[in-house]
Amino acid sequence: ALSAQQIRKSFGGKEILHGISVDVKKGEHIAIIGPSGSGKSTFIRCLNLLETPDHGTIDLHGERVFDAVEKTPAKSVRALRKRVGMVFQSFNLFATHTALENVSLAQRLVLERSKTDAVDRSEELLERVGLKKHMHKHPSQLSGGQQQRVAIARSLALDPEVILFDEPTSAIDPEMRVEVLRVMKELAEGGMTMMTVTHEIEFAKEAADRAMFLADGELLEIGPAAEILTDPSNERIRRFVNALS
Ligand code: ATP
Ligand code: MG
Repeated sequence: ALSAQQIRKSFGGKEILHGISVDVKKGEHIAIIGPSGSGKSTFIRCLNLLETPDHGTIDLHGERVFDAVEKTPAKSVRALRKRVGMVFQSFNLFATHTALENVSLAQRLVLERSKTDAVDRSEELLERVGLKKHMHKHPSQLSGGQQQRVAIARSLALDPEVILFDEPTSAIDPEMRVEVLRVMKELAEGGMTMMTVTHEIEFAKEAADRAMFLADGELLEIGPAAEILTDPSNERIRRFVNALS
């Protein structure tokens, strides 16, 4: 579904990503694992052009959506962001709007859905993430886990082809994480194409098809998640995984 080839990115003359490639199949869930500063966030931000790669190409369902040698028109960037959703560690909900409004707003602005259609779809999605009865609450009245589920519903509301998650549970109290992880696991099992940066090794083993391990801006290994994370043959991955569990 999503293919990124030879992605390189520098900040201030220092190269952070040294040519990372990945081919995410339709319906596949890939977990991205690696130490702090290894370039995980930068990499997935490149995939929906929140960062512009200095080198490389991105294809979505066989269609070239980015090529570093050509300037990407703003229109194509917007089109890509609509097709590739993103969920952040910090939720980024509008504090002055209810859960329902947060899920409805982007649909109206980005997809130009009618108010009734947007509200219907929002209610359906909030129900799916277990928040129907909280839909008229503002973010401050919701737990971190509930806010993140609103953010997931908001992302789903745009009918993305792929969703990228950047440490979706790391800003949430441990006991609130399980509901978010359950929603993500259901999404993955339901055939959504996903990539998730996470330190939750058990979750990655259970809910991801493949795991890729980044270190110092290089792809150290990619393979079946359960295999790589249960008994890593790579010494560096073994040390990392053991330290986390
Ligand atoms: P973490 O697990 O801590 O979130 P990460 O693997 O997501 O780490 P990145 O956030 O991608 O790592 O950062 C990789 C490197 O790029 C770091 O050295 C970081 O300081 C640097 N970096 C990231 N974004 C920028 C930026 N906008 N400007 C300058 N340097 C940046
Ligand atoms: Mg990060």
